[in-house]
Amino acid sequence: MNEQIKSETFHGACPHDCPDTCSMVYEVKGGKLVDVRGNKDHPMTRGTLCVKLKDFHDHHANPDRLMYPLRRKGPKGSGQWERITWEEAVSEIGNRWRGIIAEHGSQAIMPYSYLGNMGLVQGINSGDPFFNRLGTTVNEKTFCASGSSTAWLLSVGPTGGVDPESFVHAKFIVIWACNSISTNLHHWPFVLEAQKRGAKVVVIDSYKSRTAKAGDWHICPKPGTDGALAMGFIHSIIAQGLVDQEWVDKHTYGYPELKYRAADFSPEHVEKITGVKADDIRKFAKEFATAQPSVIRIGVALERHAGGGQAIRAVCALPALVGSWKHVGGGLLQMPLWDFPVDWAKVSRADWIKPGTRAINNLRLGAALTGEMKLDSPLKSLFVFCTNPVIQAPETNKIVKGLKREDLFTVVAEHFMTDTAKYADIVLPAAMAGEAEDMMWSWGHFYFTYNQKAVEPPGECKPTSDMWRMLAAEMGFDDPVFKMTDSELAAHYINWDDPKMAGVNMEYFKKHGYFKIDVGSADTRTPHKDGKFPTPSGKVEFLLHDAKNFVAGPFRAMYEGDQDGSPVDPLPGYIANREAPETNPERAKLYSLNIISPKSHAFLNSCYANEEHKIKAQGEQFVLISPADALKRNINEGDPVRVYNDRGDFTGVAKITDDVNPGIVVATLGYWRSLNRTDGSVNSISSDAHCGLGRAPTFSDNLVEVSRVNQPAMAAAE
Ligand code: SF4
Repeated sequence: MNEQIKSETFHGACPHDCPDTCSMVYEVKGGKLVDVRGNKDHPMTRGTLCVKLKDFHDHHANPDRLMYPLRRKGPKGSGQWERITWEEAVSEIGNRWRGIIAEHGSQAIMPYSYLGNMGLVQGINSGDPFFNRLGTTVNEKTFCASGSSTAWLLSVGPTGGVDPESFVHAKFIVIWACNSISTNLHHWPFVLEAQKRGAKVVVIDSYKSRTAKAGDWHICPKPGTDGALAMGFIHSIIAQGLVDQEWVDKHTYGYPELKYRAADFSPEHVEKITGVKADDIRKFAKEFATAQPSVIRIGVALERHAGGGQAIRAVCALPALVGSWKHVGGGLLQMPLWDFPVDWAKVSRADWIKPGTRAINNLRLGAALTGEMKLDSPLKSLFVFCTNPVIQAPETNKIVKGLKREDLFTVVAEHFMTDTAKYADIVLPAAMAGEAEDMMWSWGHFYFTYNQKAVEPPGECKPTSDMWRMLAAEMGFDDPVFKMTDSELAAHYINWDDPKMAGVNMEYFKKHGYFKIDVGSADTRTPHKDGKFPTPSGKVEFLLHDAKNFVAGPFRAMYEGDQDGSPVDPLPGYIANREAPETNPERAKLYSLNIISPKSHAFLNSCYANEEHKIKAQGEQFVLISPADALKRNINEGDPVRVYNDRGDFTGVAKITDDVNPGIVVATLGYWRSLNRTDGSVNSISSDAHCGLGRAPTFSDNLVEVSRVNQPAMAAAE
């Protein structure tokens, strides 16, 4: 009988924190989502979905989904709930907020969101207009790419850089701190095509990732030493006479000063810091300069240590020194975001933020909730959406402590009862991607991708946009933006008059599902052949004057106030890890291993890490450890091990491998602490300290010790 029901298809856009932003097809039969597949017509994502999304329709139908609003009725975190209506939930939120505002002011409330959904209508920034209208604390959202964005904007300005599709024309490709095969899958075929045409693929990463194994040359610096390595490359390019002097003279600023700074980074000196052989540094410099076009893809992991921002400034100098920008497929790719004609002023409504409003960074949530961060008035309410900080944010034990505060009123909008949602006072059931209309920009290609509502949300789930409309009505806001439909909002947030939109309109999206903004053909495009960088000088700026540290607008609701403001080193350079034997010998005596926590292959951050088949695909939380370090600790393959420092601990299963060098352990991110063997996860041990630029995280700048479970903890450096 069902066979006779005809199926319908709708345009989909993967909403996740992934550079690929896949174009998808939703297939609906009898009002049910029966299949989600990749859109074969899309030139970049080409009809494949990754392991995380390949059964996205089943994810929508997961029986564990939250279906109704819930109110806590036991102690925080006890899992005792009562079902309430949306009207009761919204009215209770309004009443609690009015009380908090009367007593402590509106800044005692803070939204907390991230890229659980990237959509302009339903995602990370969707709550900005509502919360800015309410006058809450601004939440600064710097988990990913904020450090690289600050470094990028200071060095080359807001340019989208090289088109990832232009990589097929490159002859020397550097993938720096990015495990493309797991986290940028749809870029990889362009790299492979270039490789087939004779390009060399170099992967720079501090362990042998899937991508490092697939490249032609793996360069493996010690974690956090990328800045020294990049400065060594600069030194070596200069020393070997490989500078494209004409291009440098015309299109860069501060070359003599950079040359002076780089003089300290001889290959032999850099070898001592990074562990990369001096001859390899010279060889890389020569090949990068001469095998044109040469191009670098910067991964988000590059910023994740104390010197991350400075390292990226040094990396930004490399293609400029050798003239890579002159060629199709030559230069740098950070995030195409900067070229997207998104009207951020409309998305975020920063004009509603009152001068003097404070901004609290989301990596420091635990400090903000527990009183460690000195606040003029405490946070009394948190509204969490599109994120799961108890798994994703650093120092999670501190966050849990804060979330247990009885005087904190926490609302969480979610799909599942996550490790964060379980500490909420009110839980709101959120719609999934197939259940709500949206529009996506991308941080991995130049396509806007449109997401149609394919099915009704199940139970009483609602799109995030509905939550803002209901809350706006409750708080008495009748501004037009809170009355717009999702279609109207999707259209409202794009600058249609920008030439890059080439005259298309919403009707085009409804028909085709995606549109590549007009940045020129990937086969001919050289965005900075003749310089024209959107910097104050119009050049690549190696040298800065009086620059101050800042977080870029889209990461902080476009708010200009309460920026970091600390002085930025005028030149790129190397800053050692905060947690390293050289900088913190006492700590290194207690905890001798540097941990790296990349994304998991089968999870998308903490999404899908509650689904049995995805856990099966990913495997139990594992800890990669070198044979030498395992032997020293009497650890055998498959042993349960405890990874710990003074911030917390978690348990995993040891995998002894040469993929990591001695002194390093790797444990991937995303596993739920409530589903792990013990109540901890990778971020239990990570620090909430910021990297030097853009208040980015320092997830790769943490020392830990590892011991076999049931073995006495050992002093490290024995
Ligand atoms: S997570 Fe990334 S690769 Fe996977 S479907 Fe979504 S956009 Fe594509």
